[in-house]
Amino acid sequence: MTKYLTIEGRQVPEPNFDRDVERLMGVYRRAYWNVKLELNRVDLIDFQRSSLIATMKKIEEILNELDRFVINWASTTIPEVVKQGVASVLVELGVTNSYKESLQMATFNRINKSMVDLFVSDTSMDVLEVSKNVRRRVRNTIRKVSGEVMRNNMARGVNGQDTQSRMILQRLRKELSDSVNTGIIDAGGRRWKPVDYVDMLTRTKYSEMYRIAKTNEAIGREAYYGIIVGGSAKDACRFHVGRIIKLTPESPGDYPTYEDLKASNQIFHPRCVHHFTTFSKIERLPEDVRQTAEEQHERGNVALESGKRNP
Ligand SMILES: [Zn+2]
Repeated sequence: MTKYLTIEGRQVPEPNFDRDVERLMGVYRRAYWNVKLELNRVDLIDFQRSSLIATMKKIEEILNELDRFVINWASTTIPEVVKQGVASVLVELGVTNSYKESLQMATFNRINKSMVDLFVSDTSMDVLEVSKNVRRRVRNTIRKVSGEVMRNNMARGVNGQDTQSRMILQRLRKELSDSVNTGIIDAGGRRWKPVDYVDMLTRTKYSEMYRIAKTNEAIGREAYYGIIVGGSAKDACRFHVGRIIKLTPESPGDYPTYEDLKASNQIFHPRCVHHFTTFSKIERLPEDVRQTAEEQHERGNVALESGKRNP
């Protein structure tokens, strides 16, 4: 387990959401695989409308079950993520000496409590939207394919072009089977396969929740600053790792807030694994940490400026 250091040199485990995300992805892959099996079973040669309706019903059941799992998964894993955030702040601010001890005494303050509910419904809604998309696409494809098969069967009765029919059947079969991998388009206009999209979405949400939970707990304990941690990076995050951020716009000092940096899209972007270690007084920073922070402050600001010029 990789760890990061608090400003007083205590070790805290890096947030790691792999296990929860992997579990969700496993359930997704299995569900989509089962949908695909149902689609592959559709008999396009001895084509029956009634069996098609039965197929769609089975697919609906698979997707409904997936949705139920997602809601349950979100409401059990999200509080754990928030708890990890709170526990890490307790170590960072010296309330406890170890992360293990912190996990035992971590509770949610009022704002974190309401945030958990908000994130559970928000995450469920985003993920359910993916299912809705898939459901719509599969249904439309089934409708389109059944229309084509029926027209094709009628035409075959007239001129018996079997080669052409076989090719059409092959194409229709592929269309059916591909419909479950329908592209999801994100806010940035990128196209994703549903499973990859859910993976990205949940990792991004978890990290965001973790950071916000930390902010809420730290502010509640009158600590208004953070230093960005989370390992070295190859992307634009590298310009900002090690610099100081303000946890609220009201705290004194010429530092960006978490929201400022997130809005720049250079760090805290989707899938970003960086976060921050919280602290209360700039004067208490060890000399080497403060020096790195100043250098990264300059470097980060240059990057932000050039980002504004060439977005
Ligand atoms: Zn990053």
